[in-house]
Amino acid sequence: MKFNTKVIHSGIKPDEATGAVITPIYQTSTYVQAAPGDHKGFAYARTHNLTRKTLEDSIATLENGFDAVSFSSGLAAMDAVLKLLKSGDEVLSTNDIYGGSYRLMTKIYNKFDIKTTFVDMQNPANIEKYITKKTKLIWIETPTNPMLNIIDIKAVCAIAKKHGILTCVDNTFASPYLQVPIDLGADLVLHSATKYLGGHSDVVHGCVVARTEALTKDLRFIQNAAGAIPGPQDCFLVLRGMKTLHLRVERACENAKRIAKMLKRHPKVKNVYYPGFKDHKNHKIAKEQMRHFGAMVSFDLEDDTFEAASKVLSKTRFFILAESLGGVESLIGHPATMTHASIPRKERLKVGLTDSLIRLSVGIEDAEDLMEDLEKALLEL
Ligand SMILES: *Cc1c(COP(=O)(O)O)cnc(C)c1O
Repeated sequence: MKFNTKVIHSGIKPDEATGAVITPIYQTSTYVQAAPGDHKGFAYARTHNLTRKTLEDSIATLENGFDAVSFSSGLAAMDAVLKLLKSGDEVLSTNDIYGGSYRLMTKIYNKFDIKTTFVDMQNPANIEKYITKKTKLIWIETPTNPMLNIIDIKAVCAIAKKHGILTCVDNTFASPYLQVPIDLGADLVLHSATKYLGGHSDVVHGCVVARTEALTKDLRFIQNAAGAIPGPQDCFLVLRGMKTLHLRVERACENAKRIAKMLKRHPKVKNVYYPGFKDHKNHKIAKEQMRHFGAMVSFDLEDDTFEAASKVLSKTRFFILAESLGGVESLIGHPATMTHASIPRKERLKVGLTDSLIRLSVGIEDAEDLMEDLEKALLEL
């Protein structure tokens, strides 16, 4: 089955009780038993829910995994992955990652003696010197957030495998339409389904796809034991959103390409970060491991101040000033004060996350309107 057909059909069957073509929202906390322990495989809704299971089956096939395990948010999903570890274990992570992921690793898991070292993975050979006997997980985010660097998933996973280390790829920015990390050697794939999978900015949800049955079993145990499950209504919304994933991402990527080119020519703009440019430092690997170059574009300003960025950010009309990404509507954000405010300024500047850096999540509107919107806002400078 090819990708677009999988999106619509894979893992999704008409409801057995009624024939409903669309998966119902099984809004129930419990299930009847004919005699103690005699039930239809459904006992309590933290453990079993058919709306959730259908969603998990569907995501698992898109990511070519054994199964998917879903959670109430992307960070709850990441929390479950980190719970696979024990005190004394170490994590190696991409240095330029989602602020909430950084916060979870440093502020919560440090307390339990699970230490994360953040390293630049753009040159995969660079990570080898950080691997110790205690390293048990390599956390890869690519494209990175918000600098849009690309990490060679295949190369990093090969190094991890050599040392017997698990790999998890946060595939939120790319979505399975653009990149399938398990095919490149990853053990686990994380999604904040709040973003492209859901795609309509109306739900918070997360999931982890596992390559093997054994990893699925461990995650399934954590899902039930710790209990950060998504509600059935939220699973329904993600299922519904996912059916147009290919169309939305295709269009958003086209729009992003045109917008990135426009920004690159603009005299008020200093740097444009977009892996689709031939002169982007990781362009070659982006081309190899991704179908298109994504719909996220970051740029900073010649006047590299928070004040200048603020002028642009408050003047756009179609680009809505808000956290998040991956919805049908275009969003504009300021990582230094919004998504990445929990990362110290010194750390931010090290990776190029300047005070004027602006991040765009390009939606599926008409590119002409979006470009005009940005050009008008840049006139404020
Ligand atoms: C949003 C996001 C997360 C966290 O997901 P939530 O659903 O907000 O908990 C993790 N990683 C990336 C790359 C994200 O963009």
